[in-house]
Amino acid sequence: MKSTIDLQKLYRTIRSVQQLLQNAAFSGFPISDYFLKQIIQQETQKLRNQISRNPRAENNNISSQLIENIASRLEKIFTPSLKRVINATGIILHTNLGRAPLADVAKAALLRSVENYNNLEINLDSGERGERNQHIEELLCLLTGAEAAVVVNNNAAAVLLCLNSLANRKEVPVSRGELVEIGGSYRMPDVMKASGVKMVEIGTTNKTHLKDYEKAINAKTAAILKVHTSNYRIKGFVKEISLAEIVPLAHKNNLPVIYDMGSGALVNLSKYGVKDEPLAGDVVKTDVDVVSFSGDKLLGGPQSGIIVGKKKFIERIRKNHLARALRCDKLTFAVLEATLKLYLNSEALPSQLPIISMLSLSLNQLKKRGDLIKEKINSKHLHIDMRKTSSQMGSGTLPLIEIPSMALAIQSEKYSAQKLAAKLRKNQPPIIGYIRDENYFLNLRTIREDELPFVIKALNKL
Ligand SMILES: *Cc1c(COP(=O)(O)O)cnc(C)c1O
Repeated sequence: MKSTIDLQKLYRTIRSVQQLLQNAAFSGFPISDYFLKQIIQQETQKLRNQISRNPRAENNNISSQLIENIASRLEKIFTPSLKRVINATGIILHTNLGRAPLADVAKAALLRSVENYNNLEINLDSGERGERNQHIEELLCLLTGAEAAVVVNNNAAAVLLCLNSLANRKEVPVSRGELVEIGGSYRMPDVMKASGVKMVEIGTTNKTHLKDYEKAINAKTAAILKVHTSNYRIKGFVKEISLAEIVPLAHKNNLPVIYDMGSGALVNLSKYGVKDEPLAGDVVKTDVDVVSFSGDKLLGGPQSGIIVGKKKFIERIRKNHLARALRCDKLTFAVLEATLKLYLNSEALPSQLPIISMLSLSLNQLKKRGDLIKEKINSKHLHIDMRKTSSQMGSGTLPLIEIPSMALAIQSEKYSAQKLAAKLRKNQPPIIGYIRDENYFLNLRTIREDELPFVIKALNKL
């Protein structure tokens, strides 16, 4: 009984909503009384619940506690939720960190596209309704050698749309060795099911022969699917049928071939250590009918799914009602157009496209970055070592390829590696490194030049 009475007394010390609305601590936030009132009521209720669960705790200062809670809630609301972070993981296309940072020209194009009205779907010559894909189609055809192109929300959507457009309710053979799962719930069998096609698994995990494709083809077959197993490789006793063999077989049977090439490299990046990745231009040369790839993997552009191929199939894809649901907005078209133009002169890519700039940094340049950080650190409890390590492409692209890199391995006399990671994640801007062998690592390949002062400041603050 006694504690209930105390509780009532405690509750009475909570100020009224009317009083709280006028509190100076909240006056700086651009929020109307209507919404501020809701936040005050929610926070008051939260505090009451807390007190009733644990009435014996120190509750002398509930009034100031409440004001503090409301203020920090407001602070959180008015700080951008999606914000810059410093990628010190060494993973160049980190899906959790937004994949590819964009080129300056892409950023400028993005701003132009959002500030004003634009000709997204108007043909300025005729004044008639235009097609949004007109802004990128010519470029994609030039860069890949394809006849036509269409862009949708991402490559997952692109594969779904290709399958649904060309083979809905029909059979599509696919090799068991290619039924990939890509991070974040993209599983080829599920995508095929969602697209409305009937998947016909052929071959085995390690070997699929041309005769397996031949045997699978019947009157119900509508297309053949081939998938680039971008995030794993089977080694040893393996056989995979190349597009160059599948395409003639399919065409002999009047079937189109759909190829999900995953990353979608437009230029050869082998001089940066990115090897064995199919090039869109080479793929199109096999006479394949439709090819899809991501816009934000090796291409270094915005999240998008690019479909290129033969005109008659692209037309069918474009006319599918699903295409309307999966289409991209003006922001994506603006960014993609600007990024694709950079590929017209691939010599300029290392200086203009951030992911290629990162790939092209030499170990010596990375070491210099590391030295620069090390020299400026004055926290006595930190021990910093330069280590030779490796970087990865990320996003399921080329998992076996290790790109040589340099990293700072950090140990602290005060904090564990976990604690260091947590503290740096709370930095403004947050720094995302990784832990290995009790050390906290900052991989230097993905930290940009202009971010070094932030890293130095954060380490010195520890
Ligand atoms: C990454 C990938 C996808 C999914 O692409 P998103 O653009 O992330 O939707 C599909 N297929 C393959 C082979 C991939 O590598």
